[in-house]
Amino acid sequence: MQSAHTYTLSDPCGRTIPTDSLIGARWHDAAARPRMDVVNPATGEVLTSVANAGLPEASFAVDAAHAAARGWARTATRTRSELLSRCFEKIVSNAEWLAQLISLENGKALSDARSEVLYAAEFFRWYAQEAVRNDGELNFAPGGANRILVQYQPIGVSLLITPWNFPAAMATRKIAPALAAGCTCVLKPAEQTPLTALAIADLMLEAGIPTGVVNVITTREPGPLVSALLHDPRVRKLSFTGSTRVGRHLLREAADQVINCSMELGGNAPFIVLADADLTAALDGAMIAKMRNGGEACTAANRFYIQRSVYQRFTEALVQRMSAIKVGPGTASDTGCGALINHAAVEKIEALLADAVDRGARVVLGGSAPAGPGCFFPPTVLMDVPPGAAILQQEIFGPVAVLVPFDTVAEAIAAANNTEYGLVAYIYTADLKAGLRMAEALESGMVAINRGLVSDPAAPFGGVKQSGLGREGSHHGLREFTEAKYIAVDW
Ligand code: NAP
Repeated sequence: MQSAHTYTLSDPCGRTIPTDSLIGARWHDAAARPRMDVVNPATGEVLTSVANAGLPEASFAVDAAHAAARGWARTATRTRSELLSRCFEKIVSNAEWLAQLISLENGKALSDARSEVLYAAEFFRWYAQEAVRNDGELNFAPGGANRILVQYQPIGVSLLITPWNFPAAMATRKIAPALAAGCTCVLKPAEQTPLTALAIADLMLEAGIPTGVVNVITTREPGPLVSALLHDPRVRKLSFTGSTRVGRHLLREAADQVINCSMELGGNAPFIVLADADLTAALDGAMIAKMRNGGEACTAANRFYIQRSVYQRFTEALVQRMSAIKVGPGTASDTGCGALINHAAVEKIEALLADAVDRGARVVLGGSAPAGPGCFFPPTVLMDVPPGAAILQQEIFGPVAVLVPFDTVAEAIAAANNTEYGLVAYIYTADLKAGLRMAEALESGMVAINRGLVSDPAAPFGGVKQSGLGREGSHHGLREFTEAKYIAVDW
């Protein structure tokens, strides 16, 4: 059935995207509730509106996912694998307009959006291959008499909640392993970027994903709606990506029904450069770790710790590279840094900068937002940021590099670990042995040595401390959507 409401992209192909919620085989508008606007953050212009689902639609979505659950769990893994492969092909063959759509609703530069689409597609390819490798175990108990048989069964109806910063990749990073494991799902995308999720769901239907296996509900009131879903006994899994603040709240909500939770939360990544590092490589890595997605990434380098003997040189070279980046609407071909998601994001950066400057930090590039209408912030470099500045503790989520000098490796590790977060850390050094030793000492779920990017569908992505619980990607990501069933056998 067609969606009653749609949005048509003018470029590059005139693709029409459904803008109602996908529930089972139908696209639903919550007719009693005013629809919600989707705004282009580069212009402030309203692109379109999407359905604003309420509690009835949330319940219908669980009905649909629950009705499809048994059949999907029993579908041969090869069939699931082939369907996921078709989803991969669909995303790749529609990559250009999907990138345009992401750029329009999120504001990011088209080059970032194109990379995201391919990254998003890779989760389908990876989990198409993993679907047929959900291996169980057969062991002997140490006493020798008993057999221990373990199967990994689909956990059941899964609620997937995603943020706005990677509207395609954060959705496919959850949908693909859920479906590979044999789970059906209800996806709730972020309010600011619902169109990408709806477009992906539409492509998945075209690829042949059966009715009810993937449902998408868009809403302006995530609190009550998600709370109702987490109190529906048919929902057995929550996979959430978003802020630590909301993650903590949802863990409490999930406790009532003892729902299994995977939480991909906030980050505060340190980027450590030792004096022996190849500075050109470190700068290349810094530009990726800081400027990918305009800094709106949980993996973004938030704090640069640079060994004192190379501090000045590194800072000057970073300023030079950051100043060469063109800021503008994401859809313009020469834009390197697009718009931030909204004005609140701009104001948050301004407040963090003001606090740091009050405490003695120096702005050596950028530092103030241009006049509207778009939500832009220029690449900014802040030097000599003293301990205690809020910018060293909070996610910046924008194109601001914060530099702090250090003398000893022990000092750098202590500073890097001085945060409630523990998602990713970056190290640049010519001494791999020193780098590996540091990697072991850093309190983070992921460490990059001489690389500015860790994201890879084949690797376990996730954090320690208050950056989250569980892993996405790799075979670990599949396990998050399964439950181990132990069968004690005597034969
Ligand atoms: P957010 O405010 O926590 O929102 C994330 C999702 O939760 C959105 O869909 C949001 O819906 C929903 N939500 C908000 N309040 C809720 C509530 N009370 N109950 C249920 N759901 C609720 O995060 P964000 O601003 O979208 O994203 C940025 C954050 O995500 C950053 O902290 C970033 O580090 C983190 N992130 C982490 C990873 C990772 O892999 N670790 C990856 C990407 C992003 P609405 O949009 O309607 O508010």
